[in-house]
Amino acid sequence: MQSITINKGLGFQNGRQLPFVKSPNIGGKLNPVYIVIHDTASGLKEDGDVSWLTNRASKVSAHVVVSREGKITQLVPFNVVAWHAGQSSWKGKKFLNAFAVGIEIDNPGKMEKVAEGVYRNSIVTIDTNKNPKLKVEYAKTKAHGAGYWLAYSDEQIAAVEELCRALVDAFNIEDIVTHWMISPGRKIDTNPLYPLEALRKAVLNYKPVGLMSQSDEGERTDTDESGVPDEVEIEPHNAIQDESAGGVSKLKQFIKSKFTTVSGLFGGLSLSSFTGLLTDWKVITALGVFILIGLALWIWSEKK
Ligand SMILES: [Zn+2]
Repeated sequence: MQSITINKGLGFQNGRQLPFVKSPNIGGKLNPVYIVIHDTASGLKEDGDVSWLTNRASKVSAHVVVSREGKITQLVPFNVVAWHAGQSSWKGKKFLNAFAVGIEIDNPGKMEKVAEGVYRNSIVTIDTNKNPKLKVEYAKTKAHGAGYWLAYSDEQIAAVEELCRALVDAFNIEDIVTHWMISPGRKIDTNPLYPLEALRKAVLNYKPVGLMSQSDEGERTDTDESGVPDEVEIEPHNAIQDESAGGVSKLKQFIKSKFTTVSGLFGGLSLSSFTGLLTDWKVITALGVFILIGLALWIWSEKK
């Protein structure tokens, strides 16, 4: 797939503008810091999704819809607010429409099994005997409950990755999340088969991890600015994807993050990551202690 670029909020692929169907369901200007990934929770026909998300009466929209074939249709410019997240919060920010690009992936959501190879929910029936390209898997998570889920197509996964890469290039994107992560208990999209960690690694990992965690700490002071009651407490480390939730000590995590920062330094020596490292008081303290021990040893050896 050719890479995607963004110019003045519009997406281009092979130098050609992505198909654009204008949605009236928009807000003001957007300077996105998050990307939120959704399922359309609909049938597998993209025209249905596009007409729903561009219908004024639906009061919903998204920046793009990604079809099973990996075709991206843009509905709202990336620098304009779309209505996809609703009540939501992430890392101290609430109502994420004002902070996030919304990507809708064509996927029917939770289904039940009705016969061998046949799965259904209120909007769609999928017969994998007739269409062996469609893969359905059983999965159960705390956030989603138990169900049968349609695997995303390779084309969808590749298209979303290309688009996210372009968004990371065009804006200061800090994180990529799914709807269920920012609206827990209210939403279950994307389904449990979505490879979010692979996507995050592929498009976010050139930023030193140590610096990312620093900026997160800074943001937490905003938490109570909004007058909205804080009834949704977000657990950023979720059971499915987080290996570190098990009991890595804080010290270990700290050393790990510094190590990543330092390796980031040598991978692509950037001034900002270097100053970021130096202004971290823990690093300065550690260096200071190191120098003092060296001095003491030197004095001691001189005395002998
Ligand atoms: Zn959603």
